Amino acid sequence: MRCRSTVRLSVVVALAGLCLAVASVTCALAQNDLARAYRVINTKQFVDLTHSFSPTTPVWSGFGQAKFLPAVDPQTKEPYTIPKDGFRATYYETVGQYGTHVDPPAHFAENGITMDLIPLKQMILPLIVLNNTRYQTKDPNHAFSIDDLRAWEKEHGRVPKGSFVALRTDMYKDWDNPEKFKRTPFPAWAFETIKFIYEQRGVTATGHESLDTDTTDKMDSETYILHHGHYQIEVMANLDKVPATGALIVVTWPKVKDGLGFPARAFAILP
Ligand SMILES: [Zn+2]
Repeated sequence: MRCRSTVRLSVVVALAGLCLAVASVTCALAQNDLARAYRVINTKQFVDLTHSFSPTTPVWSGFGQAKFLPAVDPQTKEPYTIPKDGFRATYYETVGQYGTHVDPPAHFAENGITMDLIPLKQMILPLIVLNNTRYQTKDPNHAFSIDDLRAWEKEHGRVPKGSFVALRTDMYKDWDNPEKFKRTPFPAWAFETIKFIYEQRGVTATGHESLDTDTTDKMDSETYILHHGHYQIEVMANLDKVPATGALIVVTWPKVKDGLGFPARAFAILP
């Protein structure tokens, strides 16, 4: 007859084996989930939400145009060329808030987080697109109101918590005409709507097509967003090619240490 301790030991060993088996099955299932998710994503249509930028593209007059110069050898001051050196590179002289870009909280808030500290999980989110263009025929500089949001929700359902909400105005179509693109006033957010979607809907981030968040000089909306720990993407493109709900946004930017903003790359994965 086996002693009690041997029996207990066998039970422990058996349980440990079972746990390992369960863990590896869970792990395998998780791997299958991710592989399946990738297979699904790979069949979907992607839409670029980013402008290409150059030294001549629209920028806020207070920052001025970027310069793209050939990178030079610091010793000889000679630009690197493929025939001479086997490579070439560009030296960029630009403000961070250039082209389609990210504004991290630290852009406005003394103690706000910088772009290198924005959680990775906030860089892939469900994408909601609000349509301001339906109001722009009557009022070309319409500011998207809470009433407009309620009308949108009647049609599409409640804006989900944790989503990225973009405002479509079709202004992006004027990108190649800098003077027109930089016009003031322009269609944008109403401050009350920004406050409402962050406070009452719990969204994670917002974005828009214009150079500024606000239609007014007071910068209320941008101040609110960045002072409350959220980031925003400005100067987005192609929002007319994304449905109101059901898409995902992926948005990335270089990991500049203590960065206060930089050109970003954003794209949508359509449902
Ligand atoms: Zn900005």
